[in-house]
Amino acid sequence: MLFFFPGVFTFSQDSIWLARTTGKLPFLEYGIGEDRLGGAKMGFLDSNILLKIVDSFSTDYKVRLSKYHTAYLAKESVILLEKQPDSEMVHNRYLSGSWKVFGDSSFDFLSINLEERLPYHSFQTINPSRIIIDLFGVTSNTNWISQLKTAKEIKNCWYEQIEDDVLRVFIELRHQQHWGHSIAYDSTGKKLWVTVKRQPPMLDIHLLKIAIDAGHGGDNSGASGLVSKVLEKNYTLLIAKETEKTLRRMGVNKIFMTRTKDTSLTMIERIELLKQFNPDILVSIHLNSSSVDSVRGVSTYYRYIGFRPLSVAILNQLLTLGLKEYGNVGNFNFALNGPSDYPNALVEVAFLSNKEDEKRILNPKFHRAVAQKIYLGIANWLKQLKQ
Ligand SMILES: [Zn+2]
Repeated sequence: MLFFFPGVFTFSQDSIWLARTTGKLPFLEYGIGEDRLGGAKMGFLDSNILLKIVDSFSTDYKVRLSKYHTAYLAKESVILLEKQPDSEMVHNRYLSGSWKVFGDSSFDFLSINLEERLPYHSFQTINPSRIIIDLFGVTSNTNWISQLKTAKEIKNCWYEQIEDDVLRVFIELRHQQHWGHSIAYDSTGKKLWVTVKRQPPMLDIHLLKIAIDAGHGGDNSGASGLVSKVLEKNYTLLIAKETEKTLRRMGVNKIFMTRTKDTSLTMIERIELLKQFNPDILVSIHLNSSSVDSVRGVSTYYRYIGFRPLSVAILNQLLTLGLKEYGNVGNFNFALNGPSDYPNALVEVAFLSNKEDEKRILNPKFHRAVAQKIYLGIANWLKQLKQ
């Protein structure tokens, strides 16, 4: 590594390291908190983003995003460039230029001229449905937001300089449902692109591209049955395949399975496969486990508030199977809930660690019933969107 020499890499109060993101799917974390799925994630970043590193904590660097905001990033996602005095010079902010809102045959876009590839954080709001993006280290010099009729989903676009060095971008959507967005810089590094997915013109399940993820696989077995000792990976696959079959039988043709065999796949590999397929929605299937064997029931999970309705619609259907309500869980840190590109839901069908739930999980009839309910959940979600 060109710039990294242990001993040379030190921090002091009056110096920072400039760095750039590298590798696959770097992501910012709010803090150094840890749970089973890692610290709470702020969101993914593009590669080659300029960062200011102010400190080091075991496997993470602390990054200064703006005067009042810091975040953390895995060391393996960073290339250190040079040490600089932490002076006013370093605080120099970058200016935003003109913006353009437009669309092509499939997506809407917002492009923002920027002087540097700077970090950002996006989130969704509902009622009204908006995508909000904080651009760190940016001060506005934007006096021109060009808006073309080719944009179909972006209704309004504006900004607010919420701090001296944080520019907040507001994108108001035409539809109540979020269908996803992604953020990246173009190859010149002088333009940030926000790609906004449109609501499909026909809210018909037959026309949707649906991705199904069978949890675990290969050398990752997941949980195991309390009595039977069966492995989660085998039963997520059975239920996922049954779901595929049901969707096909109901006339859905565009289906992508992250795995159809006992394959080892990392989360990064799954996310990359999904990005290639570019689904309209993703359903990830898992089986739950608890150290307390009386805990049982069905649950669904989402990360972003705008994707909650899909997970609730699927849960409502699964509850009609007589499973106990374990609940709908938000802000969940599961890797496949992380992409903001498409609505996604994690389904934890039932508990392998509970005797009653386990009995159901072992029954092929139950797999078919779950598949049918997932289908109905998606169909009902679409129906609600028409109202
Ligand atoms: Zn699992």
